[in-house]
Amino acid sequence: MDSKNTNYPTGLGIAHGTCQSVAIAGYTMGGGWGPWTRLHGMGCERLAGATIVLGDGSIRYLGTSAIYHNENSQYNDEQNNNLLWAIRGGGGLSYGIVTEFFFIPFKLPEFPTSFVIKSTDFITKIKAIDIIAAWEKVIEPHNNPHLIGTNLQVIAKGVACDEDVSDDAVLDWQFNGHFGGTRGEFEKMINDWAESVIIRINNNPYYDDAQKYVMIKDIKQEVVKILNPSNINIQTSVTVKNTQGYPFIFESWDRRLNNGLSLEVDCPAPHKLTSRMPTPKWDETSRKQLVRSLQSTLLNVNKCEPSNFSATDDKDTSIEAYITLGAISGKFYAEKQNLPEPERIKISFPYQDRAFTIQYQAWWNQSSGKYCEMSPETKEQKIPTRFHENRAQDWIETCREFHIPHTSGSFISFKDASVPTKDYFSDNYQALINTKLTSSKDEKCLLRSRKTII
Ligand SMILES: Cc1cc2nc3c(=O)[nH]c(=O)nc-3n(C[C@H](O)[C@H](O)[C@H](O)COP(=O)(O)OP(=O)(O)OC[C@H]3O[C@@H](n4cnc5c(N)ncnc54)[C@H](O)[C@@H]3O)c2cc1C
Repeated sequence: MDSKNTNYPTGLGIAHGTCQSVAIAGYTMGGGWGPWTRLHGMGCERLAGATIVLGDGSIRYLGTSAIYHNENSQYNDEQNNNLLWAIRGGGGLSYGIVTEFFFIPFKLPEFPTSFVIKSTDFITKIKAIDIIAAWEKVIEPHNNPHLIGTNLQVIAKGVACDEDVSDDAVLDWQFNGHFGGTRGEFEKMINDWAESVIIRINNNPYYDDAQKYVMIKDIKQEVVKILNPSNINIQTSVTVKNTQGYPFIFESWDRRLNNGLSLEVDCPAPHKLTSRMPTPKWDETSRKQLVRSLQSTLLNVNKCEPSNFSATDDKDTSIEAYITLGAISGKFYAEKQNLPEPERIKISFPYQDRAFTIQYQAWWNQSSGKYCEMSPETKEQKIPTRFHENRAQDWIETCREFHIPHTSGSFISFKDASVPTKDYFSDNYQALINTKLTSSKDEKCLLRSRKTII
């Protein structure tokens, strides 16, 4: 771009991840899930072009990069088209070093707000399975077109005995979202979400009528509080005049300082993760198993002695262990599916038909480096987790192996070295290998890392 020309359109953005440290290159080439995915698709969907240095040092101008650089002879070159397809979700580094990305920007929403709803806001302890099912309803392809992106975090819990693991577990959770519609549309979404939870409570034979009455009353009261404009439960540093009367202060909608979407602050810290993707057949049995995977004796240091056990003895490992469900399904993929084949942008990210990602994470403490120094109090709280590092790693191992019906595959950006490479790329695996072999000019296979296709 010509930096002297200040006559640029404003109010535009490009997709990015949820954490500040995630850079655009690996994010895009891994597929790119984030706060914008429901409305604008995975980040790689908007990659219109790139300039790439191949293994032999030659430069290729892919897609719109060829137009920008007046290299029009390269525009429709088959190898270049394959390379562009490959870097749209086929993993970083494999096909060359990208020196320029060209994105199609999107218009930022007119009435933006970010929101967080936490289990701790509710008096009623709702079962995790109901919360997960209600969130899934929120993200169904044709529901809530103004919900531009969302994720649901559900916290794992230590249990003393395997017999304590239950489909009906109550777990802590946090429903995060970014909304681009009017106040009325936002209210409707929250009310519909609460209604989905209530329907599940009503249909559950586990509760008697009196319990149902109290729970439903509590939930309705909490929703009134959530929607009260004076109730601010989002962390923010910038106050933007909120003309739409949302209950939350809106922080930011792009990555410029004090004017960007509210990103999570993250510091390097030891952790382990794994992921999988629900197939379109995902159902209640899948949800039950997901909830069961989040209860583990590995996360609790008590011995299984039920007769001597009391709640006050409960000794958790303090490991931060949780799943994040990241919404993929929404307006973008509903519309893309209906486009005639030639008009669909071709990406190599193989999981466009999945409703969400499932990411398991376990974090434990160690020194976090100069600029991410923990406060003495936090340090004090975190030190016990060091004694449980192997448990944290073991928990991830069990989650990777856990039988959850109707899941398959894994997300390359959440790379787990124990997942076979093919699982990340699914049906596109062989075609990506072919692209690597025929188009990257990397005869000595120097473009190689733990995340590459070969
Ligand atoms: C705290 C945290 C939060 C995250 N949140 C999200 C999220 O919200 N959404 C999401 O999709 N992912 C998320 N991720 C995963 C993230 O997308 C991947 O880690 C991604 O690889 C990061 O890209 P990077 O360019 O920052 O990383 P790097 O580690 O620098 O790069 C990743 C890979 O791409 C290669 N690469 C980097 N630059 C280039 C280039 N210019 N040309 C060719 N190859 C290159 C590298 O060699 C490497 O193999 C998160 C990761 C962390 C640690």
